[in-house]
Amino acid sequence: MVKDYKIIDHTYDVVIVGAGGAGLRAALGMSAAGLSTACITKVFPTRSHTVSAQGGICAALDNMGDGDHWKYHMYDTVKGSDWLGDQDAIEYMCRNAMSSVIELEHLGVPFSRNDEGKIFQRQFGGHTVRKGEAMARRACAAADRTGHAILHTLYQQCLKHKTKFFIEYFALDLIMDEEGSCRGVMAWCLEDGTLHRFSAHMVVIATGGYGRAYFSCTGAHTCTGDGNGMVLRAGLPLQDMEFIQFHPTGIYGAGCLITEGVRGEGGYLTNSEGERFMERYAPKAKDLASRDVVSRACTIEIHEGRGCGPNKDFVLLHLEHLDPHLIHERLPGIAETASIFGGVDVTKEPIPVLPTVHYNMGGIPTNYHAEVINPTSKDPDRVVQGLMAIGEAACVSVHGANRLGANSLLDLVVFGRAAALRAAELIKSNSSHKPLAKDAGSEAIARFDRLRNSKGSKPTANILKDMQKTMQAHCSVFRKEEILKTGIEKMQNVIDSMKDIKVSDRSMIWNTDLVEALELENLLGQSLASLHSAVARQESRGAHARDDFPERDDDKWLKHTVAWVDEQKVRLDYRPVHLNTLTDEVESVPLAKRVY
Ligand SMILES: Cc1cc2nc3c(=O)[nH]c(=O)nc-3n(C[C@H](O)[C@H](O)[C@H](O)COP(=O)(O)OP(=O)(O)OC[C@H]3O[C@@H](n4cnc5c(N)ncnc54)[C@H](O)[C@@H]3O)c2cc1C
Repeated sequence: MVKDYKIIDHTYDVVIVGAGGAGLRAALGMSAAGLSTACITKVFPTRSHTVSAQGGICAALDNMGDGDHWKYHMYDTVKGSDWLGDQDAIEYMCRNAMSSVIELEHLGVPFSRNDEGKIFQRQFGGHTVRKGEAMARRACAAADRTGHAILHTLYQQCLKHKTKFFIEYFALDLIMDEEGSCRGVMAWCLEDGTLHRFSAHMVVIATGGYGRAYFSCTGAHTCTGDGNGMVLRAGLPLQDMEFIQFHPTGIYGAGCLITEGVRGEGGYLTNSEGERFMERYAPKAKDLASRDVVSRACTIEIHEGRGCGPNKDFVLLHLEHLDPHLIHERLPGIAETASIFGGVDVTKEPIPVLPTVHYNMGGIPTNYHAEVINPTSKDPDRVVQGLMAIGEAACVSVHGANRLGANSLLDLVVFGRAAALRAAELIKSNSSHKPLAKDAGSEAIARFDRLRNSKGSKPTANILKDMQKTMQAHCSVFRKEEILKTGIEKMQNVIDSMKDIKVSDRSMIWNTDLVEALELENLLGQSLASLHSAVARQESRGAHARDDFPERDDDKWLKHTVAWVDEQKVRLDYRPVHLNTLTDEVESVPLAKRVY
């Protein structure tokens, strides 16, 4: 072991890293199945980003009498994914959606109710009945606090089933053996500074998305994709990293979401010349064009020098012309958010906004049992023993090139549950563990020690900002070969500058300086994977909009990108999309142009 670090050993049947909706649903299922279950989390479970999910969780319960069916939900999800989603996994998710949501209700989630006393459901973009004939009311909601309700309920249930929590422990790296199987995970206790080695039959990564690779994102500051970083260092790939969902109106700097409802009430966007530029891009729908169209328009304005502010890097969203009573009645939350996070009184001045990263479709490739995949040319579905991934960290892939709203909370609970079912099948509770190699975890400690003692001249925050600005400018809504290639060059320089990183705090206890440096290292690998995956994909599909290749190209690109990052070298490969369904009960959705 490196120097004088003392290591505390633990052994569990399963170790879950992450206590968001995905991690907690898996922890609940595994604990209830009698497996000894540890759940490691860097923040208190109910502070995970899932807590901020508002709108809802989709399931074709048909409580509102639309004639909804899970087969329509499946159709919408395949179409929403721009046919990049794996149809067997999508069938699994939509078919299991109803029972998963009812299960949440029985666990105690306080869903809002319709007149009949059933779970209330609302409309969400892209969700229809009878294959696009009419909008479906499919998103089950607990007011506008659905994620909050689910997360708190799941945490209580985990406590009831005696999940062992390791709270405010920062997971550092996976422990892999010579055969390439996962055997455990290393973690650092932030509170008392101790280091821990967890040995387990199964490690489950549920660490969420990596929105913080960007300057502006709606995700929490903790959304740094640590599990994805760990996977890359373990020599395993990430999938479809070019697919990143943007929302056009996040508050500049803070990134908090300003809902589309603002433009629905008559709000509009302007550039530095005071021009209502959406009229040029979408003469009919103007500011109410679809999310990707508006996001692309804002980006062009900024790229062409018509952004606002000293750095010309945002546009303005106006509500000040609206009746203050209307704002008070219909948009009170937005007014509050804009005031707290933008310092703006929306009745008097516009809100500075820019397209903001909202969700990562890409992540750790898995099958629909949540088992991690490391493909080879012979076996594109080869399973990695001892390792699962779920939630936003994973790429099952049910969202393909573009996620539909309210399908992420669903993904968390369906695949959290699937992981638990699979683990209960594979693992005999309290069965003996093969001993770990003597030096297991030493590489992780060496990396930790190197960062902790780095004596360079560049504070973490500066390197972080360089990375975020590079991603924001070069791997944005709207992409082009030169812009992406320059982004790769810049990102290489940012990565090189890590040699000169300065961590000032050397302590082991509550060292947030070091936490941020570890998170930054995780983000850098993912940023590089995203840039390389994006430059390689010469087509436009879902959230990946290439200016130089504006059409979808199924002949060449109906395939998943798989990216390995070794040191700074990125290796890309591709694996087929599963166009087959899981059962004969439903036919796969044939390829078609995606129009709404
Ligand atoms: C503002 C906002 C609103 C949204 N609204 C909706 C909505 O209405 N409907 C919908 O379907 N989706 C919505 N989404 C998307 C959805 O909420 C997320 O995709 C989902 O909550 C992610 O859940 P998760 O369990 O994968 O990860 P998270 O909830 O992000 O949790 C990650 C967990 O991993 C832990 N962790 C991370 N790194 C480490 C480490 N190194 N060591 C130890 N622990 C670690 C964290 O402590 C945390 O517990 C929204 C997202 C945002 C940002």
